[in-house]
Amino acid sequence: MNWDVIIVGAGLAGLTCGLELSLKGNKVLVLEANPVVGGRCSNWNDAGMEVESGFHRYIGYFSALPALLKKAGVDINDILTWEEKIDVLIKGKKKKLVLGISPVHGVLKMIRGITGNQDVLTIKDKLSLIPFSLNGYKDFLLNPKKLDQYSVKEYAGLHNVTDNAFDYLLVPLSSGSYFLPADRYSAYVFFGLFAPAFYKFYKMRIGAFSGGMTDVMCQPIADQIIELGGAVQIGEKVTDVILNEKGEVAGVKGENRKEYRSKQVVVAASLAGAKQVLARFKEKAEFSNLFRLPINPASTFQIDLNQPALETDITSFGPKTALASFAEQSRTTFRDCKGRLSIILDSPDKFLSTTAEDALKIVIEDAKALGVHLEGKIEDYRKIDHPEDIYSLAPGNHFLRPGQATTIPGLTLAGDYTKQPYFSTMEGAVVSGQKAAAIVTKALQRKAKAPG
Ligand SMILES: Cc1cc2nc3c(=O)[nH]c(=O)nc-3n(C[C@H](O)[C@H](O)[C@H](O)COP(=O)(O)OP(=O)(O)OC[C@H]3O[C@@H](n4cnc5c(N)ncnc54)[C@H](O)[C@@H]3O)c2cc1C
Repeated sequence: MNWDVIIVGAGLAGLTCGLELSLKGNKVLVLEANPVVGGRCSNWNDAGMEVESGFHRYIGYFSALPALLKKAGVDINDILTWEEKIDVLIKGKKKKLVLGISPVHGVLKMIRGITGNQDVLTIKDKLSLIPFSLNGYKDFLLNPKKLDQYSVKEYAGLHNVTDNAFDYLLVPLSSGSYFLPADRYSAYVFFGLFAPAFYKFYKMRIGAFSGGMTDVMCQPIADQIIELGGAVQIGEKVTDVILNEKGEVAGVKGENRKEYRSKQVVVAASLAGAKQVLARFKEKAEFSNLFRLPINPASTFQIDLNQPALETDITSFGPKTALASFAEQSRTTFRDCKGRLSIILDSPDKFLSTTAEDALKIVIEDAKALGVHLEGKIEDYRKIDHPEDIYSLAPGNHFLRPGQATTIPGLTLAGDYTKQPYFSTMEGAVVSGQKAAAIVTKALQRKAKAPG
């Protein structure tokens, strides 16, 4: 079969691109290496235990993702449980920092968060964040390249943020969100990730998924592509693109040497996958930044328990421990479990080479230091690693990210690592998929008009 468009990768970027192009009447084939769709936003059964790619939160300011889901018949409010605050648990002390994050939906919690929490953050600690934030947003707008040269730690040092404010606020909001220690996390990414929260402040809160992300979000998009006449093939790893005699990309090759032909190809694999599929273009100048863009690992730990680990399902951070960020999920994402903890581990480099058994010992010990007691409650556990899925958010990398358009006829890129303003987020993946779909639509129109 000759397809209009082949899309490599059924993560949110590939599925978005596939749905947008299907809605325009194109015949779309999505090829996905994994046995489920969703990529980094997926859930599956791992030898008897329900697991997810990792602990995820929807940020209230997202707008492209809910609009896309609507096109697949999914109302975002039906698949989320909203949260108006986050907890930062303090190691070795029976204290926590409670921060309101929703100026409209949880105004009192927000005021209490700013004026309260005196036992963890003094007035001096809080005031030290003002020059850091004001300068950060000024540099984000006026000197982005300069800001991207600093790590969060360096930038905090430059603006005299106190140790307490750094440890209990900036570390959770950087390493706790994106797997990189604050001394390797770009200050540009730090401010950029929160920037939309200012002008969309009225939308700010965060959402926990009410079910696994493949089930409630990604599979419905794939189903809609199929409904519109497309196909989504799982378990098919693409190894290369096919070039025709004119040097245009005219399809892809699968691992089993099967060839798939199309007018256009969108490579929407994660960064490591894209580097493999595009290996033949490695020496081309336009791809040099893509091949230079480094990869960063993530390691997550998921535990089934015989009772909830925490009183509420709420986003929590554990600075100075292995539990960078975590949440109880038995009342939200994994409702069939009596108790369920999903954790993003700090530091991923260390945990990639740690066995699940050894990681469990560290998790139990560190959770105890945060006042979360897991002994005698554990029923099953898994360590789910992402050795090379994520582009590195370290200083100097942001401006290496490639655009979606390429000069090679028939080839377009998508994926959170490609240029869009939302960094490595679900929203970013969707926006990249939409940008790729717009480029492909124009290319198909040009081809249709071309003589012969
Ligand atoms: C642990 C973790 C926690 C996160 N938390 C959040 C969060 O709280 N909020 C948020 O907004 N974002 C979060 N993210 C980021 C978010 O998941 C990603 O930005 C988004 O899912 C990226 O989508 P994508 O389509 O660009 O890439 P991916 O989801 O990686 O999709 C790429 C797809 O391509 C497939 N593929 C790769 N190579 C090939 C090949 N050769 N042939 C065929 N298929 C191939 C892969 O299997 C994959 O399915 C988190 C990510 C991780 C890992």
